Amino acid sequence: MNGPPGSTSPLALVREDLRSFSGYSSARTSAPGVPARIWLNANESGAPSSCDPEGTSRRYPDPQPAALVEAFADHWATTPDRVVVGRGSDELIELLVRTLCRPGGDGVVVCSPTFGMYAVSAHLHGVPVTDVPQTDDELTWRVDTEAVREAAVAAGARIVFLASPGNPTGAVVPLHEVAALTEALADQAVVVLDEAYGEYAFQLSAVTLLEEHPTLVVLRTLSKAHALAGARLGIALAHPDLTRVLRAVQAPYPVPVPVSELGLHALGEEALAATRSRVGETLRLRDTVSRLLRDLDGVRAVYASDANFVLVRCDDPDALLHTLGSAGIVVRDMRHLPGLHDALRITVGTADEMSALDTALRENPA
Ligand SMILES: *Cc1c(COP(=O)(O)O)cnc(C)c1O
Repeated sequence: MNGPPGSTSPLALVREDLRSFSGYSSARTSAPGVPARIWLNANESGAPSSCDPEGTSRRYPDPQPAALVEAFADHWATTPDRVVVGRGSDELIELLVRTLCRPGGDGVVVCSPTFGMYAVSAHLHGVPVTDVPQTDDELTWRVDTEAVREAAVAAGARIVFLASPGNPTGAVVPLHEVAALTEALADQAVVVLDEAYGEYAFQLSAVTLLEEHPTLVVLRTLSKAHALAGARLGIALAHPDLTRVLRAVQAPYPVPVPVSELGLHALGEEALAATRSRVGETLRLRDTVSRLLRDLDGVRAVYASDANFVLVRCDDPDALLHTLGSAGIVVRDMRHLPGLHDALRITVGTADEMSALDTALRENPA
């Protein structure tokens, strides 16, 4: 691809056999242009279920519910043609791998320690994973974007997955570095920036970079700050040429009717105001719990976090797990991840939960 930034299309990075793929023609997408009155084309029940008397869920949903897509687009100050809604970001990660990487070929780059689903999706598609480990100074983690660029070129990768803020690092990748990396790889790979924890971060969303960088994809989710992990709603924001193919590759009807309604409510003004206030409370509690942990004997590092969790390194993770476990408190053991042989990740919960954590640690320090 050539030409000035913004003039290119990510279509050249899509698997050649999928560039004009039209996917499954569903009962909703195949409806003719004439205003339909009577729908007898999808073998749905004519009458509603007794447990759904209004018949809200009687019919197959719109594969990309228009009102929900529009609400997401409004929320991110972009256009509906740049939005793909899916069953959480997990589905979108998998969809990106399947759309951009040939089965058993191409490759993805990840930066450990990071979210496990990037490598899982690549593995299930037979795609090689190149790891460019992050470095840390026991306070923050850093992605070496220049090393990422070199590794992506050397491996012939089609996707670079970056999480910002990262899980479990809690660190953001500076936007200017995301932009530079995307630009440098534009003729070879898509950069996917996973902003699952974006609501907790001070840095602006990379959504602002999308127009200028056609090969950038931003993932957002309702699972974290919006408190709807059980609803399974996530979105990919990307260039319209790419979202068109992603929708064609996606399995039919990804968003159940009740979930779509829940998502619409979550993006309404009232719910967004409540979300902002919950986020504020979480940030306050995160500072408190970070201080508490830093003061604890046996805790060697508490990383700065731009997310709703803290990552700690300790002398004796088993003892800490045992102390918390005895109080019925479950945290995430991160010791299986490269570079984290001594680390635990603690989610910032409610004020009550954090005071229970405080009590457990004071009564029985690790
Ligand atoms: C939790 C998390 C997600 C969430 O995925 P959903 O499928 O939307 O629930 C995505 N990415 C990262 C880095 C996460 O930590």
